Amino acid sequence: MGNIVAIVGRPNVGKSTLFNRLIQRREAIVDAVSGVTRDRHYGKTDWNGREFSVIDTGGYVVGSDDIFEAEIDKQVELAIDEADAIIFMVDVESGVTGMDEEVAHLLRQVKKPVFLTVNKVDNAKRAADAVEFYALGLGDYYTIASTNGSGTGELLDAIVAALPEKEEKVEDDLPRFAVVGRPNAGKSSFINALIGEDRYIVTDIAGTTRDAIDTKYNRFGFDFNLIDTAGIRKKSKVKDDLEFYSVMRSVRAIEYSDVCILIIDATRGFEGQDQNIFWLAEKNKKGIVILVNKWDLVEKDTHTTKEFEAMIRRETAPFTDVPIVFISALTKQRIFKAIETAVEVFENRKQKIATSKLNETMLEIIKLNPPPAYKGKYIKIKYCMQLPSPTPQFVFFANLPQYVKEPYKRFIENKLREIYNFKGVPVVVYFRKK
Ligand code: GDP
Ligand code: GDP
Repeated sequence: MGNIVAIVGRPNVGKSTLFNRLIQRREAIVDAVSGVTRDRHYGKTDWNGREFSVIDTGGYVVGSDDIFEAEIDKQVELAIDEADAIIFMVDVESGVTGMDEEVAHLLRQVKKPVFLTVNKVDNAKRAADAVEFYALGLGDYYTIASTNGSGTGELLDAIVAALPEKEEKVEDDLPRFAVVGRPNAGKSSFINALIGEDRYIVTDIAGTTRDAIDTKYNRFGFDFNLIDTAGIRKKSKVKDDLEFYSVMRSVRAIEYSDVCILIIDATRGFEGQDQNIFWLAEKNKKGIVILVNKWDLVEKDTHTTKEFEAMIRRETAPFTDVPIVFISALTKQRIFKAIETAVEVFENRKQKIATSKLNETMLEIIKLNPPPAYKGKYIKIKYCMQLPSPTPQFVFFANLPQYVKEPYKRFIENKLREIYNFKGVPVVVYFRKK
């Protein structure tokens, strides 16, 4: 389970520059594995061994200039709710602005760690200029230059020191399911259909707790935990269709889950927001089940299901080994199937393959289909094993691992999927020197 650090501040202060600097190294690794680049406003980073997620809130600002301000206020409020620490970025070039004051006002009431960060401090003169930001009433500040990284080390030291320790809750081995999806896809309806109570009525109680992270259920003979971020929210705060809102919520829920139950609205297809959430889950190496909801509203002939499925496969390629269940939360159609599938994905993800069996099978396949020689050099794979990680990761030891290219890695991944059942589960394949 990770901590979330949100970067807030008005446009052009340098939020995304800092964000890119923080996630660069990590992101490159992730992309080499998954072969896709998405969600550039959300990423993982680590500093001195502490891993955390970073959200660049500015990435979600949409609309014209005059709604900017209101939008930024909302984002700051959400960041306050959802993040564990907040980087409030201001710009020494422009000095204190009215919008900075407004954001500072919101942040002064917050109990979470807030790091006032004066950006664009590229020289000594600017370092002296930064003192004016004391006027924001947030105490000491950090001076950084996002473009070259100066000062960011100190800032990160302080952030990491302030992040709450989140120890993994391991009281039970029950699957943790996060129900995620765009607003109005039918998340609450699905949860209600599943657990059979109107627990997910939106409450407006101030300070609705975020600490009760999951709740245990038994339905249809399955024991599982549902992550509680979907419904219990102060919805009145923000317009529901704000993408940022659903992304924030999903980020949190996904982090805590083993399997993400992604609900999509059949009447709308597989849209950008669905994609974002899908790749967020994939990037976090969580199990995924896609539920196509509101299937009762779709006019069907014999091809409809196939066509819909093919459309989703196109949108989620190359990660297509994911179960899709067509449901109706309203009529409770296939709710059992949905939860049964989620439990299966959970089991698939937990699967550990004995090293001897793995070598026996995979080395034989590799012998028949060796990686192509590179610049006249032959690549020999000698040994492989599954790492003892919570999500399937396989290491293949080779004499020249650097010459093993993406297509071959994909070939190996597909073979693993063919032989063992990893449906719905991101699988990582590494090649290392032996
Ligand atoms: P955002 O809107 O807050 O995400 O801001 P951006 O990251 O897009 O940066 C806005 C502008 O400020 C860009 O032209 C950046 O190159 C510039 N910028 C960001 N960080 C620094 C810095 O440390 N020093 C200077 N001089 N310019 C910076
Ligand atoms: P959430 O925002 O994702 O939690 O979505 P809700 O559960 O609040 O559902 C949004 C709207 O879609 C509500 O009006 C629901 O009654 C409706 N809805 C949800 N599931 C279904 C379904 O399977 N069929 C139909 N016809 N309507 C549904």
